[in-house]
This record gives sequence, structure tokens and C-alpha cells, in this order.
Amino acid sequence: MLTVTNLVHVYGNGTRALDGVSLEVPKGMFGLLGPNGAGKSTLMRSIATLQTPTSGDIRFGDIDVVKQPEQLRRTLGYLPQDFGVYPRVSAYELLDHMAVLKGVTDGKARKETVETLLNQVNLWSVRKKAVAGFSGGMRQRFGIAQALIGRPQLIIVDEPTAGLDPEERNRFLNLLAEIGESVVIILSTHIVEDVADLCPRMAVLAGGRIQLEGAPSDLMDAL
Ligand code: ADP
Ligand code: ADP
Repeated sequence: MLTVTNLVHVYGNGTRALDGVSLEVPKGMFGLLGPNGAGKSTLMRSIATLQTPTSGDIRFGDIDVVKQPEQLRRTLGYLPQDFGVYPRVSAYELLDHMAVLKGVTDGKARKETVETLLNQVNLWSVRKKAVAGFSGGMRQRFGIAQALIGRPQLIIVDEPTAGLDPEERNRFLNLLAEIGESVVIILSTHIVEDVADLCPRMAVLAGGRIQLEGAPSDLMDAL
């Protein structure tokens, strides 16, 4: 369970991007829906320990996320919005390299990890091709593979379906749903369908505040 309490983030220029956000996120897929500028990325980056909140509290299980960022990072998988620039190395090499960075240093364990993940996201057949040449959907699935290194218990996915065609979008969302039952996955998006189709729980963020929270079926009339 992830618990956010009274989170405030004020940027240096005075923009109050988060204005007292409180949220309880159980295991499974959780949709964070909101228009551009709502504060979604700010909230995602705060949970991912990439920025420190002005005030408020974030807890994941026993971890005080604001005070113990290194501990959260060990169990975090993060797929940022701008995951899209790649060197011209192969998918296998890039994932292998990322596994080293994540601390999977034993050669045999790393081989198993990389092979398992490439199969899981259905990129095994293109493992020797450069990620730079991948389609949008393939890139996003590669992004999921890198986010899954180290078996994270918390996975944050920021605006994942931007630029995907309908078939790619479905493959990607179904892949997330398969992973999503035993861990906490937060899917941040401005697309209602991404959330409605897959997430048993959701919240709506606008103007830096949670406006609605509940099951999509109960909230759809209000959207
Ligand atoms: P969303 O992801 O929902 O589009 P953001 O978290 O990116 O929302 O932005 C929330 C608000 O904070 C917006 O008004 C945005 O312009 C502002 N903002 C985002 N990043 C910064 C920044 N680095 N400095 C100043 N203002 C920012
Ligand atoms: P098991 O769950 O029985 O370990 P897997 O096929 O899932 O079987 O994993 C095989 C090997 O790959 C194990 O050594 C495991 O530690 C490693 N592994 C698999 N997936 C990951 C992952 N996402 N991150 C790190 N190591 C992984």
C-alpha cells in the first residue's frame, strides 16, 4: 500500500503544482487521471524520489519515502514520460547494462533476468536490434522491461500510451495488467479509456488537488 498525505509541491517560480494531495493506493493497477498541468508528473516524480516535496508525507509499506529515498529506489520501477531517447545499442545490451546499474551484477543471474524480461514483454525476437529503431509500442514495452529489473513492488508509469496506435496501446496496457496484480502500479494519464479499461481504482487530479477517488465504474458519470 502506498499512502500519500497532504502533499504540497511549490516550484521555485511559485507554481503550486500539488496543493495538499492525499491518496491511498492499494495493490493492483491504480489510474491517476487528470488534464495537462494537473500536477500528475509532479506527483509521480515525488513518489519516485526524483524531487522532494515542499511538505507532506509519502509512505510505501514501512518506507518513509521522503526520508528514505534510497530504500524506495531499491523497490521502484519507473517508466517516465520522456522515455524515448536511446543509444544505437541492441535491446539486449541496453537491458543488460541497465541490470548492472540496478545491481544485478552476477553474470548468470543477469542473463536469466534479461532473457526473462525480453520474453515477458515480447521483444525476444528483436533483442539484437537497436532500440533507436523500435516503433513507439516496442519502445514502451522495452521501457516496461527496464522498469521491471530487480522485481520492484512499486511501478510508476507516466503517460504511457502517448503516440501509440490502438493495437500497440492494447498490447502495452494488457502487459501492464498482467504484471499489475501482485504489485502497486500507478498509471498516470490524461486518457480516460486507459484507466477505465484496466484499473479497479482511480483518482482524478486537477489543479494540484484530488477531485474524485473510487472505482472507475462509479466515477464515469462524473467525468
Ligand atoms: P501534468 O503532469 O498533470 O501535466 P505537471 O506536474 O507537469 O502536470 O505540472 C503541474 C504544474 O506545475 C503546471 O502548472 C506546470 O506548468 C508546473 N510545473 C511543472 N514543472 C515545473 C517546473 N519545473 N517549474 C515550474 N513549474 C512547473
Ligand atoms: P523464479 O521466479 O523462479 O526465480 P524466473 O524465471 O522469474 O524464475 O527468474 C529466473 C532468474 O532470473 C532468477 O535468478 C531471478 O532472480 C532472475 N529474474 C527474473 N526476473 C527478474 C527481474 N525482473 N529482476 C531481477 N531478476 C530477475
